Amino acid sequence: MLRAAKFRIYPTAAQEAFLWAQWGAVRKCWNMALFLKKHYYRTRGVSLDLIHEIKPLIARAKKSRKYARLREYDSMALQETVRNLNKGYRAFFEGRAGFPHYKSRRGPQSSYHCTNVSVGPNYVRVPKMEPIKARIHREVVGKVKSITLEADAAGDYYAAVLWEDGLAEKEPLKEIYEDQVTGIDVGITDLLTESNGRKESNPRHLKRARKALRRRCRQFSRTKKGSRRREKARRRLARAHKRVANARSDNLHKVSSRLVNESQALAAESLRIINMLKNHHLSESIADAAWGELLRMIAYKMKREGKYFMQIDTFYPSSKTCSCCGFKLEKLDLATREWTCPHCGAHHDRNANAAANIRAEGIRILRAEGLPVLRREMSSPNAR
Ligand SMILES: [Zn+2]
Repeated sequence: MLRAAKFRIYPTAAQEAFLWAQWGAVRKCWNMALFLKKHYYRTRGVSLDLIHEIKPLIARAKKSRKYARLREYDSMALQETVRNLNKGYRAFFEGRAGFPHYKSRRGPQSSYHCTNVSVGPNYVRVPKMEPIKARIHREVVGKVKSITLEADAAGDYYAAVLWEDGLAEKEPLKEIYEDQVTGIDVGITDLLTESNGRKESNPRHLKRARKALRRRCRQFSRTKKGSRRREKARRRLARAHKRVANARSDNLHKVSSRLVNESQALAAESLRIINMLKNHHLSESIADAAWGELLRMIAYKMKREGKYFMQIDTFYPSSKTCSCCGFKLEKLDLATREWTCPHCGAHHDRNANAAANIRAEGIRILRAEGLPVLRREMSSPNAR
């Protein structure tokens, strides 16, 4: 199974200089490939194939005196950048991303390495460089497939490592228990509500980090363009951004791991439906809640455990339907947090009721797909 982790690295001054030079070369290849592609299209109406026609030019350029310095860098890193550009073009034509643009020294930097790469107890190794000191906070056992070296806007360096742990993915469960199925309703005030009524709010440290971010943002905007202070403020701002992103990501990992541990199957609405239903004016809270990221984490963690995750993509009035009797309200205001079913008298928390309906829909889908969803033999006084 493929595993991924990002480690902070601490290059020496010489390594730092080399990394920046290599990133420069990577950028150069990207920008040249993009230029050629655009230029030929504009002047001759020819759409060059990036992989078959442009990528081989790197090897040719290295033989020329002008570009001889490209030989100093990991050739895989240079080639990969053209492959990435090709992906960028595809994403653009499939409507998933904007048109690829030229890269500058000011943006985030990265280079991809996939041959002769390894991870040691306190270092990472890539071609053309001595081992780089690293803080390896997770065990890397198995075959390292690739290492991507990165610099972020705060001026910190990282190695994103991808490795094959040699373990087979778990077989999907052959049968599950009904009481092990959980529905999830994601929200704005609370990150999510489970069908059992448990709520998960956005943590306080995230709010604190966001406040600090706003302060850094103001400080940055007060500095003069091109000044030393501005550069300093820019780094502080980038660091504050990173703290928010880290706090958010830590929390999402924690929440998703707990959900995965506690259930055999999870059901949620698809991101498409979620975005359709939730209030778009609250964009900041929405960004914070980071629903898409949460669903993505749940999906891969459930698969890893051989468990089931259903994303319900058909529109279904989960908030307005009574989860006890199926009665459907005509209308339910966004502001109404609790309601009582006029048909059966059940009192509902808005989100928990929605989660219960999503759970029921999840169970229906699992059964329809032929998976036995068993009822447990209950020994409660109610059971006969
Ligand atoms: Zn009812």
